[in-house]
Amino acid sequence: MYAKVIVDIKHEQVNQAFDYHIPDDMINDLEVGMRVIVPFGAQTRMGYVIEMMEDSSEETKDIMHLLDLTPTVNDELFMIINDLLKSTDSLYSEVFECVIPSELGMDYDKEIVIKDKNLVPDSMKIYFNDKGIWHLKKSDYDMLPKLRRLREKQVVDIKNIYAQKSKEKKVVAYLYHENHQYQRVDQYPSLEKDKTYTKKDLETLGFTTGHIQTLKKHDVLRQTTITEKREIKHVFDLKDKIVSLTSEQKIASQSIQDALDSNQTFLLHGVTGSGKTEVYLDVMEKVIINHKKCLILVPEITLVSPMAKRIKSRFNRVAIYHSALSKGERFDQYQMILNNEIDVVIATRSGVFMPMNDLGIIMIDEEHDPSYIQKEGVIYDARQIASLRAKYHHIPLVLGSATPSIESMYHAKNGMYHYLELKHRPFNLKQPSIKLVDMKSELKQKNTSIFSNELKEAIHNRLSKKEQTMILFNRKGYAPFVLCRHCGDVPKCPDCDISLTYYKDKEVLKCHYCGYEKPFLKTCEACHQPTVKEVGVGIEYVEQQLKKTFPTARIMRMDRNVTTTKGAHEKLWHSFLHEDADILLGTQMIAKGLDFPKVTLVGVLMADLSLKVPSYTASEQTYMLLSQISGRSGRHMPGDVIIQGYQLDHYAIQSVLKDYDAFYKEALYERKLLRYEPFMHVSQFLIEGREYLKTYQVAFQLKKKLNLLDDVLVLGPSQALVKKIKDRFRFVVTIKYKTLDALDIKNMMNDLKSQNIYMKYYPNLDMM
Ligand code: ADP
Ligand code: ZN
Repeated sequence: MYAKVIVDIKHEQVNQAFDYHIPDDMINDLEVGMRVIVPFGAQTRMGYVIEMMEDSSEETKDIMHLLDLTPTVNDELFMIINDLLKSTDSLYSEVFECVIPSELGMDYDKEIVIKDKNLVPDSMKIYFNDKGIWHLKKSDYDMLPKLRRLREKQVVDIKNIYAQKSKEKKVVAYLYHENHQYQRVDQYPSLEKDKTYTKKDLETLGFTTGHIQTLKKHDVLRQTTITEKREIKHVFDLKDKIVSLTSEQKIASQSIQDALDSNQTFLLHGVTGSGKTEVYLDVMEKVIINHKKCLILVPEITLVSPMAKRIKSRFNRVAIYHSALSKGERFDQYQMILNNEIDVVIATRSGVFMPMNDLGIIMIDEEHDPSYIQKEGVIYDARQIASLRAKYHHIPLVLGSATPSIESMYHAKNGMYHYLELKHRPFNLKQPSIKLVDMKSELKQKNTSIFSNELKEAIHNRLSKKEQTMILFNRKGYAPFVLCRHCGDVPKCPDCDISLTYYKDKEVLKCHYCGYEKPFLKTCEACHQPTVKEVGVGIEYVEQQLKKTFPTARIMRMDRNVTTTKGAHEKLWHSFLHEDADILLGTQMIAKGLDFPKVTLVGVLMADLSLKVPSYTASEQTYMLLSQISGRSGRHMPGDVIIQGYQLDHYAIQSVLKDYDAFYKEALYERKLLRYEPFMHVSQFLIEGREYLKTYQVAFQLKKKLNLLDDVLVLGPSQALVKKIKDRFRFVVTIKYKTLDALDIKNMMNDLKSQNIYMKYYPNLDMM
């Protein structure tokens, strides 16, 4: 028997399946979808078996090892993989890597084994252990040429070794052996026959390390190993109030429950705080009673924990999957899911691929969120994958949002989605009152602070009442760039053509794309005046200003920089909830979903900043961000929102004062007029190359080819927003269309690809 294997090397030249012979002793165990280790050229690689057959016309080598007991890639995942292969220009290996948890991937290394001890150079001897083996670290790889020469002389051997990125955690354990001869066992706490105890177990029973040693010696305890699960620790307690649903909630929940055996998509539209999550929980209960499983996605890691708190307070068998867990934790959560030990999976985008038998429902909270789109590598939209899976399992898909995406609302209005609405907050709490403040007039009144007088007053008021404030400033980094006040020169990256970011702590300027770095100098390189200063406002600057303006206030900051470490976001969230701070300042991270009862004021600085993003989704993004953050105010007490900016007459900002429908109508009109989603799909191509002219020409040829397709509008080529990365020039071609065969697209690209040109297709994605 033979197997077709996709090897985990990401290279266009090997973008195909290779045939391998299945050794006789493996035939009974091997199945399609399992991971195997195979020889590949001079390497040893992991691969996925995608087909098994009687014969092969290729010259084949043997599969070396089988890694799985059950297939890692099941039928459903194969279906998703095929879909991704069809719709993107990604390689086989990339697509497999995308849908399979990274913990199951391999780390590759090399091991040097001594063959002739006497000939090993003295300088090298220190690297080898007493068994004559040297495990080569990546930092040792510059020694490889030397080692290869030694291999030629038969002095050493170089071996490829591999290890799965993450594994089960094995711990020492002790088995109680009943048929021992030890008389004095009565002096110890009693143990159960044939039961395994960890050291911790024994210690809680009252055993000391000394006891364990003694009992081991007398064969009462036999040492063994067991697998231990890495538990995900939460800082929250599990208590959560049980509510009885309002009639609106009941209707929504019942409609979904009535459709549990059918493949329908529901759009659950309810203002923030209207109780959508309670509806999810109610539906989940029904699904679980039916012995089926629930997959619920949230857009951000920060939202996993509040959702997990509520779900874990209601249900026991819950798994969590997102990138801020450790590799080991993720591996264990995956294993639990695989082994059917759970009823609910809460995950971020990549969790949409979690293998789940008996899936009963998929729910996507905050469905409008752009984080559901994977914008690098294999491009996918978790909502589309979820829709595929819902179809596969013949189950409902629930999309929930306070501000549905224009596309989803469009589908709901056209009857493609089943529309469910929660119009009221449970206690009929009023929506917060929202005010716009024009900063141009503040300046006229000689207020040069970044806070309007009104906002300042409001914050003081909250401080005195011991209520909390949230300030949204949607821009990262302190003083994004420096500028010479004299000649206007802005230091840029020589390779990437973007302004260098100023890092105050180290006094350096750094490129965000390629990492180029140089010291910050007050003297201008262009005009030699000592007038170079930081410009622009970054979130750290806002933090400083807050501290200055409100010296007694306790201020907390939440942005990507402070939430990269594991569990950091959860700790911040928890500590703000427990009123360890009066003001929470943050980027769009704080706008999403979090529920803080004591927040009665939300301030937005430079609300129009996000309108400047050159994308057709800028208005939508702005409106959604403002609505979301406004929803943070007054969830349990009356609240206020103050939105500051310079260009406040735009409908995306004005609609925040009205309602979603006002926004939707304007936005849809704009989309129709300019022929964007949902009227036409928009996709893009990125063309990169070292030679400016050559790259442009290839981009232009692509445009010409695309123009030959019927009913496809081609725009560009234009320079990408980032014109250059690492001395590669970048151009973008944009297409608008109703239908398209991705295969045509791929063929065109293949015709134009050459060694010096890199090209990538971004289906349904505005790259900006
Ligand atoms: P959403 O998910 O729409 O933002 P949530 O489900 O988080 O809304 O509800 C907001 C708050 O209102 C939560 O504290 C929740 O416990 C509470 N709540 C929701 N529904 C009810 C209800 N029927 N009765 C009482 N409280 C409710
Ligand atoms: Zn650079």
